[in-house]
This record gives sequence, structure tokens and C-alpha cells, in this order.
Amino acid sequence: MGFSTDAVHAGQIPDAVTGAVITPIYQTSTYAQEELGKHKGYEYGRTHNLTRQALEKNIAVLEKGKYGIAFASGLAATQALLSLVKAGDHIIASNNVYGGTYRLFELIMKDYGLDFSWVDTSDLSNIEKAIRENTKLVFLETPTNPMLNLTNLKGAAEICKKNNLNSIVDNTFMSPYFQNPLTLGCDIVLHSTTKYINGHSDVIGGIVVTNDEKIHERIRYIQNAIGAVPSPFDCWLVLRSTKTLAVRMEKHNQNATELARFLSESGLAEKVYYPGLKSHPHHELAKKQMRGFGGMISADFGSVEKAKKLLKNVKVFTLAESLGGVESLISHPASMTHASVPKEDREKMGLTDSLIRFSVGIEDVEDLIADIENALG
Ligand SMILES: *Cc1c(COP(=O)(O)O)cnc(C)c1O
Repeated sequence: MGFSTDAVHAGQIPDAVTGAVITPIYQTSTYAQEELGKHKGYEYGRTHNLTRQALEKNIAVLEKGKYGIAFASGLAATQALLSLVKAGDHIIASNNVYGGTYRLFELIMKDYGLDFSWVDTSDLSNIEKAIRENTKLVFLETPTNPMLNLTNLKGAAEICKKNNLNSIVDNTFMSPYFQNPLTLGCDIVLHSTTKYINGHSDVIGGIVVTNDEKIHERIRYIQNAIGAVPSPFDCWLVLRSTKTLAVRMEKHNQNATELARFLSESGLAEKVYYPGLKSHPHHELAKKQMRGFGGMISADFGSVEKAKKLLKNVKVFTLAESLGGVESLISHPASMTHASVPKEDREKMGLTDSLIRFSVGIEDVEDLIADIENALG
């Protein structure tokens, strides 16, 4: 089946009791058992919930995976994945991952005996160079936030296979609509469903998808044992959202492409970072491993004053953290998402104080362009 057909139907069967077309919200903590040891496969809400199972199946199919395991947030899903390793193990990670991932690894899990190497994975030789005897995992994020650099996933997966390492890809920015790391040979996909998958800025959630039975068993066990499960209502909201993922992503992509072109051609921005632009250093790779370029743009406006003026005067864009919703958001990475990164390190990667990040929504692009023109005018 095609992506849109799967998005609407996968994992969803009419309710057994009423025939309800939409999977109900099974808002229950426990289930009646017929007699001792005899039940319908549902014992306790943390362990089994049908709304959650429908969501897990649906997203697994969209990611071309067999198994989906849902969590209460993207970071809870990331934390669960660290249970694939133990004290004394080493993990290689992209040096420009989501800030919360960096905080979890470096400021929390390091104290539990895990060791991390942060490397620029857009150059695959850096992964090979960082491999040690105790390396177990390679954690990748592509494109990165906010510089939108890409990592060659097929190449990275080959290195991992050769060295017996598991590869994890945070696919939040592309969503399963534009990129499927499992089909490129990676072992595990991770999403903050908070972003594009839910897409309406009203849920915090996460999911892990894999084809590997052993990994599935372990993460499923952890999901129940640690208990960071999403609520039935949140699962239902995300399940409703995946039905429109394809049409939303098309519009995000179309709007971002037009806005990126406008920003660079109008001369309003000094530098525009968008994988869909020919000027992007990884444009060719983007065309190969992604089916679209997504809805995220970063642009350097050359001076802090100009950046501040834009942030202050926009009316359609909302100044806020997060991304991937239907409404356009604007943010200042240096003081918001990346404030904890030392200024010197920020500037080295191009993340200046005049850099603005746009999460381009699905509004009329003419209004988005006019909003930026008016704000700077
Ligand atoms: C938001 C985000 C996360 C964390 O997800 P939460 O749902 O906020 O816990 C992880 N990775 C990326 C790329 C994100 O954008």
C-alpha cells in the first residue's frame, strides 16, 4: 500500500463491540478477568492498551518497520534506548543532536558509567575513527537542528554493520513521510511524535520503531518496566494526526521551499540553510536519501538587531520553542534551544547570534512571506 493509505488504515480495525470506525480511547487502568489466569490478553493499563497498540502498529508501518513501541515523550523513548547498553559501554553520537538528547546523555547517563563521543557524523570517517572496543551504539540525527546538516545514513549503517554496532536515527525532522532510515540499513528509528507526526502542537510523545526482534523485546520490556507510557488520549490524538501526515508534510515542504527561495533571493537574509536549496552543502545527499526537504529553515540575518527586529515584529509566525506543528513558529537558537552550548562552539558551527530558525507551517505562504517583509520593513 502507498504511504497515505497506510497512514489512514494501518493498525486500525473497527471496534469489536460497536463497529466504531475510529479506534476508541480505551481510558482504563485495568481489565476484567473471566477466571483465574483467563483474560483477553489485557491485564493492566501500563502493559497493554489497545489505543496505544493501534498507534504503535500505525507508525511502525509508516516507518517500514515491524515493531513500534510508544513512549510519553521523545526523550523517554531515547532514555529507553539506552537500556540496550550497560555501564562501561561507549556510544558515538552526532555532535549536533537535539539539546535534550545531549543533556540526557552527557549530564545524566554519563554518571551511570556510559561513555559518549560527540563527532561530526556528516563526515563518515569520523564515526570510524571514534569506534572503540567497547562501542555499542551509534546515535544519529539528520538533518540536524538548527544547521540542517545531513549524515549519509546508508554509509553510516554499513559502518555499523561491519563493526557490529546498533545504529539509531532520530528521524523527527523528516517524519516517516520523507525519510525511512530502516530501509537504508539502520537498526532503530526514534521520533519525538510531539513534532511532525502529531503536528498540532497539543501532545508530547515519542516512539521507537525497529525490525529487530531482540531489540523489540528489550525495549518492550523496558516500556513496561520503567513505565514512561503515553496516555490513551494522547495516543488517540497522535493516531488521528498520522492520517493527515502526508498532506501536511507536502504543504510544509512546499511552503518551506518557497520561503527559503524568497529569503535567499530577496537578500533579506545573508545566509539561508535549507537542504532543498542547491547552495546547501548536502543538497545532493538530501535528494538521494530523503523524498522531500521538510519544513525547517535556518537563516542568518547578519546582525543581532535585525534578528531581534524580526522576532519582535512578526504577526503570523509565533515566537516559541518546538517545531513541526501546522502553525509557523520562529525561534532564536542561540538564546533558546542552544543557550547551553558555549558561544565559541556555537559560532564554530555557524550558529551565530543573528541566526533565526523557522518551523514553516501550513498557512498560505504569501502570508508568511509578507509577515517577514513587514516585520523587517
Ligand atoms: C523535540 C525533539 C526531541 C525530544 O522530544 P520530546 O517529545 O520533547 O521529549 C528529540 N529529538 C528531536 C529532533 C526533537 O526535535
